Parts: sequence; structure tokens; C-alpha cells
Amino acid sequence: MPTSRRGPLAALALVALGCVALSGCSPVAGTASTGSAPPAPVSTSASATGSAPSSSAAPASSAAQGITVPSTFPTSGSVPGTSGPGDGTVGAAGIGDPYYPTAGNGGYQIDGYDLNLQYQPDRNALTSTATLTGSVTADQGLTRFDLDLQPNLTVGAVTVDDAPATFDQQDAELVITPASALPAGSPLHVTVSYAGSPGVVGGGTANLGDGGWYRTDSGGAFVAGEPTGASAWFPVNEHPADTATFAVTATVPQGWQVISNGVQKTDGLPAPPAGMTTVRWELDVPVASYLDTIYIDRFTTVDGTLSDGRPVVSAIAPDAPDAATDLARQTPAVIDVLSGFFGPYPMPAAGGIFTGSDTGYALETATRPVYTTGVEDLTTVVHELAHQWYGDDVTVQRWSDICLNECFASYAQWLYGEKVNGEDLDAMWKQQMRGYLNKSAFWSSPLVDMGAGNEFTRVYDKGPIALHALRRQIGDDAFFKIIKDWPARYGGKNASFDDFEAFVNQETGKDNTAFIDAWFRGTTVPAAQYLYPGDLGS
Ligand SMILES: [Zn+2]
Repeated sequence: MPTSRRGPLAALALVALGCVALSGCSPVAGTASTGSAPPAPVSTSASATGSAPSSSAAPASSAAQGITVPSTFPTSGSVPGTSGPGDGTVGAAGIGDPYYPTAGNGGYQIDGYDLNLQYQPDRNALTSTATLTGSVTADQGLTRFDLDLQPNLTVGAVTVDDAPATFDQQDAELVITPASALPAGSPLHVTVSYAGSPGVVGGGTANLGDGGWYRTDSGGAFVAGEPTGASAWFPVNEHPADTATFAVTATVPQGWQVISNGVQKTDGLPAPPAGMTTVRWELDVPVASYLDTIYIDRFTTVDGTLSDGRPVVSAIAPDAPDAATDLARQTPAVIDVLSGFFGPYPMPAAGGIFTGSDTGYALETATRPVYTTGVEDLTTVVHELAHQWYGDDVTVQRWSDICLNECFASYAQWLYGEKVNGEDLDAMWKQQMRGYLNKSAFWSSPLVDMGAGNEFTRVYDKGPIALHALRRQIGDDAFFKIIKDWPARYGGKNASFDDFEAFVNQETGKDNTAFIDAWFRGTTVPAAQYLYPGDLGS
């Protein structure tokens, strides 16, 4: 995701909720949960490949944030009775990720989300019906289960398998009791009708800021956030362990435009009400819900195709930086270069959402990353497009596996610089290592199992350094085979860092565990025998 380098986060401000929901509002109590602002990520040494974009630190733009709701997403500790596999026939309120005990839910899986929403930009008023299809996974069936939905969206009706269900909103948990018990293994078909004034979720982006539904200065809105973003606008099993396809039919006032993930569909759309327009976007490959997005604004588009004809559609905000249009035009060529490293592009479409807002980060939303001011540059485009393989196609099992996304997307920037600009990566590695070698804080945060809230602390700077060391340890032939074979092996699936470690050992026919642990799991400088693989010590 993000390649943010801004300074300590500005405290989140709780903006009073305007009650503009079409079917009632829930007051939001309390103040924004800010937690402790983390130190700014350490910038990597400036280099021509730009391992980190070099824009200046900037505070969060309150204008972009719109309504902030307190985080209802605890980042550590246990929530009694809500995590784990569930109790009998009651689905757990968490999917079992120790970093985020109430993220996702237990007892079922979702295979597809299909939203039918209407949005009034002038009032930030969203009304929607979400249709979820999936199956019951609980061994004993389900008499009750949860979805994740932020409390500033008010549910009006729920059906399960076409029968009205009872429901209760408890903070960000939508607790659903079907009219009759759901047998184990049975298909699941849920509809949720809801309305409200969507906003951003405080702390929704793991100590890098908030995430969710952002307003734009031009009056529109877009969605970005990791790990929390999806529940800011639809009911969801909000954890990457449950991936699903995504589709949205959006009705907005005429003059506004809508872009989302995947491919636009024009056939069979319902006739919109007078003065409104309806568009539909579909993503037919399963992805984690934080990769689902929408952008509603008065934007222009840049259209193109990949070399095999797949569509490339980018949206350029009215207040996007001047570079945005050129970056959109370069997107197919960047994908071509990355395909040389990682294999065939895994998504049915491509493009980008180039906003004029400042969230402090960009996000690899599927097929169409969200870019924000300060990170609208070629380096970030390379990074977010690399995520289409590493993060979007291959999905983390747990948030503690985030290096599988960020270490690789960050190293893709190095690879791109080497391939396109002839950068000397060994020289860059040595230069950076000279700066980091005696900094214990750099080494103390591991790249795996880093602890809740620390997911993004080191993956952008230590991640590529560790991967380049691994490359020198196993050699170019093995390394480039692995980074291409990994998406081929785990594309469309979840994977853990343990899986990657085993994969490296398998592909090289050697036990590299001690080396990998020293670089990726260690909390000190790697031991001397691992520190300078290949010629890196010369
Ligand atoms: Zn990233």
C-alpha cells in the first residue's frame, strides 16, 4: 500500500456527524481514537531509483477526510468471546487474526459482493443494498453470524436466503440472526439494506492514518484504507483471509461520474430515476475487501489497453497534480516491465484513480490503485502496480504477513530502476546499509510478526534491503525464478510468510531458513555470516 513518508500524524479530529441518512441516523459517541502517533517511517537514502518517493512530509488534509468515526477496530488484546473459531453455532465476531480480533468474522465465507447504491454528493448521503453470496463453513452450521459495518451506516433490513432476518448493530459488528438455522456447507445469500453518511475510520490504516470513505475538495468521494476501508461503505467480512469478487451498480446525479474496480458494464442496467445516471463496474477475480474501491467525482478519463487488449481506464481528478495524466498514460508500459519480473498481469483490467486529495498514502486497490497528492509519481505507480501481483493476486493470510506485499512492492521499485534506468543496485544497497548499520532502531522491528500497529514500520526500507540480500544469497537465476513462480503458485490464494520461506527452500533445493530468519524475523543486525552475501561486502 502506501508509500507515505509524512511526519507524525496529526491527531484525528472528530467531525460532528451531520444526520443526513435517508433512513435514520446513529449518533456516534466518543472522540476519535488516535492511539499514539508512530514515528515517521525512515526515508531510504535518496537514489535515482527512488526507493521511497521524496515529497515533503505533509499533515493530513482535513478537507479530504470528511467525517471521521472512532475506530471500532481494536488493534491488540483479546475481545472475550469474539475471536477464534466461534462458539457452537454462533459465528465468531473475528476471523482469528491476533492483531485485529474483531476483523472479519467466523462461520462463513463470502465469495462475492454486489452493491446497488445511490449517492448524493452534496449531502454525502449513501443508500445501498448489498448482496453477499457465499457459504456456511461452521462445522455445526450457523444460528447467528456477524458482518463488519461501521456504525454511522444504519441498517434498515436484512434477508438471509430470501427470508427476513433479525439484526443488531453493535459498534462495527452487524449481528445477524437468520429466521432458521443454516446447515453446515450450505450456500449463503444475504442482502443488507442500509443508509447513512459514510466517513473515514480513525486509525483505519494501521498507524499510517485513517481509512475509508474520503470526501474530495471538488465535492466527490473515494475509498481507500488498509486494513479498514470496506466496512466504511458496505457490510463485509473484513479480512484478507476471505477474498471475494466485487461489483457495484452506482446511481449518482447527472454530471457526476463513477469508477470502481475491474471492467465497466453497460448492458442491462436499470433505468435511473429522473436526473440521475447509473453505471456498473465488475471485478470477477477474488480480492481482499480493502482492495475494493469507488471514486465519484467530476473527473476526466485516460483510456488505453494492455498489449493483449485488456482495458486500461484511469480517472483524473479535477484537482489532480499535473503529472497525473502522464502517469496514467505510462501505466501500460510499467505493467509490461513488471510482467517481465512477475509473470502475466493477473487482473482483468488496469488503470488508476489519480485524486487531488492528500491522505498521505497511495493504495493498491485492485486493477485501479488510488493515488493521492504527494505520492503521484512514477515510483509510486511502479509500487502500486507491483502489488497487483504481490498483495492483490497473492493475498496475505494474516496482517503479520504484510512483508509479502510491501517488501516486494518496494523491491519492485529497485528492480524497475535497474531494468529501465540501469541503476547499480549493489551500490545502492551498500550506500543504504552504511546509513543503517549502526541504527539499532532500524533493526529492532522485524519484517514478519512485527506486532499490531507496526505492520508498516520497516517494510518499505528494510524490506527491499532484505530482499536484495536474499537475491545475492541465492543468485539471480533462483531469485528471478522465485519472484515469477510465486504468483503462479499462490495467485488467487492466501499465503503466509512461512509459505514463502518454504517456497524459497523448495525452489533452491537448499535450506535458507537461517538466512531468511536473520533478515526478515531478526531484531538485530544479521549475524556476520549472513550480513554481506555475494559480493555485497566487497
Ligand atoms: Zn505498498
